[in-house]
Amino acid sequence: MGKFEEGVIVVGAGPTGALLSYLLAKAGVQTTLIERHQDFSREFRGEVLMPGGCLNLEQIGLGPDFENVPHVCMHEFKVYINRRPAISLSMKGNGYDKYPPKWISQPHFLEMLVSKSAEYENFRLLRGVKVRDLINKDGRIIGVTADTGIKRERIFGNLVIGADGRSSITRARSGIVAKQDPTPMDIVWIKIPQLENANNVTFNAYVGGGHIVFCAGTYDGQIQIGFVIKKGTYKDLRDLGVAKLLALISEFVHPELARHILNISTEEIKPFLLSTVSDRVENWHLPGLLLLGDAAHTASPVGAQGINLGIRDAIVAANHLIPILSKPSNLNDIDAVLEAIEKERLSEIKSIQRIQALPPKLVLKNTWYSKLILSLISTFSRNKTILAPINGPFAKFAWGISEVSWNNSQEAKTNAPNSLD
Ligand SMILES: Cc1cc2nc3c(=O)[nH]c(=O)nc-3n(C[C@H](O)[C@H](O)[C@H](O)COP(=O)(O)OP(=O)(O)OC[C@H]3O[C@@H](n4cnc5c(N)ncnc54)[C@H](O)[C@@H]3O)c2cc1C
Repeated sequence: MGKFEEGVIVVGAGPTGALLSYLLAKAGVQTTLIERHQDFSREFRGEVLMPGGCLNLEQIGLGPDFENVPHVCMHEFKVYINRRPAISLSMKGNGYDKYPPKWISQPHFLEMLVSKSAEYENFRLLRGVKVRDLINKDGRIIGVTADTGIKRERIFGNLVIGADGRSSITRARSGIVAKQDPTPMDIVWIKIPQLENANNVTFNAYVGGGHIVFCAGTYDGQIQIGFVIKKGTYKDLRDLGVAKLLALISEFVHPELARHILNISTEEIKPFLLSTVSDRVENWHLPGLLLLGDAAHTASPVGAQGINLGIRDAIVAANHLIPILSKPSNLNDIDAVLEAIEKERLSEIKSIQRIQALPPKLVLKNTWYSKLILSLISTFSRNKTILAPINGPFAKFAWGISEVSWNNSQEAKTNAPNSLD
């Protein structure tokens, strides 16, 4: 137990915290991962992983384990404008064939990461434990207080990583301030059965009429619908009832899917609202504390970036922290690398958030110029299929912007799993 008090405390077993904990544990660092839930299936989490994230997981050596996580590969991304097919991006070349975007089961993904970490005796996962506050001593964070369900405990470590998501308690208690970019949208999230023929929906985005609707075939044989609406307008839609809401959505999608949506039984359908946020903290660290993932920069769902950004944060943080934490070092050495981690990640985060902000602003306003832009895109691109590009905004979403790779030289120093001891 004593050894963990000189190690790292990671708050939150989402993609960021679970991957970072795995990398630290594998390198022999004493790692305590704290997750408030007993399991990972209790709340909604983003589930699309872009090619760059899949590539990163392979570099780390998690490729085969990731392959076993329930998923579907997206080989085509179809955009419809005003219900007419505009352009299709094919993932059958340019590197996308090897690493297509994947719709994964996030609960299984997280279980895979924590069970890989559990192979190392220097790792512990505290499930069902909710962090309440930071412990501060002489201007340095030295641990957290947490509720175990039975009692309140003090858990100490040489570094606390706040990877506890968009409503981060570590961020709130640290006093670090976040600047919000007002996102004009929310998303109504609905799962329906898949079409029963060869034209199964893979990933379609329907743009026009002041809305974006995306529909994707998921690993459980269903279609996930995301109906993007103006922020604050959900109450009126909810009051319509499920049948009328589905009828409204059917007005934006292609005719075959519209007929399917209108014919499904509404009894089992339970729409819910996902409120979207986009923000970024002004500084990611204090002595003894580092914020990462959504806790540092909440990602809107545009371009499915949140998991990729969290994975890339975790890799960069591990690359910097492992050389310091795997040898005897004083606390100042640890604090000194935190700024380098923020610096390495910040420019990509800023650029991605800038690109993410554009589509909803353009489409949801539904002004004469947004209609003109959409109709020009539709006219010039009508129903063309092109290879998914390796430059431009789509490629930035797909592969990331900055160079992030797992520092393989650390492999030599890694810990042997318990099973091989
Ligand atoms: C509608 C919507 C759709 C999205 N779709 C996608 C998508 O398809 N692809 C994508 O990449 N991103 C998507 N995102 C964004 C994505 O979900 C997040 O960016 C991503 O999950 C962030 O990972 P994280 O590990 O930083 O935080 P989280 O996934 O939020 O994980 C934080 C973890 O911390 C735990 N926790 C919180 N507080 C405490 C506490 N006090 N004590 C202990 N544990 C705590 C939580 O239970 C959770 O497990 C979407 C977002 C929204 C809103």
